[in-house]
Amino acid sequence: MTNKDLLAVTEEFGSPVYVYDSEKIAFQYNRLKNAFNKIKDLRIHYAVKALSNISILKLINSLGGGLDTVSVQEVKLGLKAGVDPQKIIYTPNGVSLEEIEEVAKLGVQINIDNLSVLEQFGARHPNTPVCIRINPHILAGGNSKISVGHVDSKFGISIHQMPLLLRIVENTGMNINGIHMHTGSDILDIEVFLRASEILFDAAKNFKNLEFLDFGSGFKVPYSEGDIQTDIEELGEKLSKRFKDFCKNYGREITLAFEPGKFLVSESGKFLAKVNVIKQTTSTVFAGIDSGFNHLIRPMFYGSHHDIHNISNPKGKQRFYSVVGYICETDTFANNRKIAEIAEGDILAFSNAGAYSFSMASNFNSRYRPAEVLWHNGKAHLIRERETFEDLLKHQVEIEFEIAKPEVSEQ
Ligand SMILES: *Cc1c(COP(=O)(O)O)cnc(C)c1O
Repeated sequence: MTNKDLLAVTEEFGSPVYVYDSEKIAFQYNRLKNAFNKIKDLRIHYAVKALSNISILKLINSLGGGLDTVSVQEVKLGLKAGVDPQKIIYTPNGVSLEEIEEVAKLGVQINIDNLSVLEQFGARHPNTPVCIRINPHILAGGNSKISVGHVDSKFGISIHQMPLLLRIVENTGMNINGIHMHTGSDILDIEVFLRASEILFDAAKNFKNLEFLDFGSGFKVPYSEGDIQTDIEELGEKLSKRFKDFCKNYGREITLAFEPGKFLVSESGKFLAKVNVIKQTTSTVFAGIDSGFNHLIRPMFYGSHHDIHNISNPKGKQRFYSVVGYICETDTFANNRKIAEIAEGDILAFSNAGAYSFSMASNFNSRYRPAEVLWHNGKAHLIRERETFEDLLKHQVEIEFEIAKPEVSEQ
């Protein structure tokens, strides 16, 4: 996608708008596949919550990928997109037993991360194969908001509870067909990840009917030039070797699964917004865009960095700007950032806007959620229309009130 292509998208579909490059998604998918090409049966389950547009799910399906889901609604979206239920894994946290049963009925692989739920589900459905989510208590990354492996995390069954887990499995006679972990969102150090994997291998030895081991995700993608990223190729080499050793000891080959979200779609996405106003204060030049955290909340919520390029004036002189939104709250996308000189009306392109961007958008300030466009085979395809005023009112129920008459005071 060139700057010209992107500008043409805003001409055709307006701003703000999300644009995803299908080629980049396919590239990342194949990169992960190739890194693990020594594994006989590799499964890549795309984490739907990163970007859940049905056309993206269809694209993943066409690449041969399955889905990782966290709600019955995501499961239904996946099935609607034509994904085989056997290629969908459901990894909820804190949902009701009823929802888990509903998903199991759809033929989807259940992954349970809580002993109480495991016991209840096992007692009622001993014949439904279940995967268990282990918390190895290893921190993969540095950001506590996105690390889910520490001791007090609400995710997974603590590795220290293995004796109780085994007792529940034995008492219910249930069939454990997979072991899973997902330690957090940023693997900065492959050795740490491998250490967590050892805990998974160790746990796996307790179960005789395993069909797969699922190593979750946490692949870090670069957010700016030179930014650290997970070395997938190195991880592929080291983990594959270790996995094959495990299989040999286990007695047969099983499936190795991953469930990347960010890795597959983050870099494919650009968020395009128009600069409404330039405002100078005593110390700062603000560029105010036609958006806010209602459309892209990551910078405010996680403090995440998104590169910003002025695609209307890419060769302009570099100047310092604070890029802010139009929401009646502090909504700073970037502080004191070097960007090619901005004029009102210019289009800014935010990088890494594929994952956790549109999927976390809201209607705050009664603004419409943006359109989504898929750039595929050299052409822009609209995959979600921009919302309209009718969408804002949809599902709202209006109550009629009598207008109180002003009291007339007697003279
Ligand atoms: C969110 C999530 C993922 C995807 O994480 P990324 O950092 O986007 O790759 C994978 N597995 C589970 C269980 C998740 O909750």
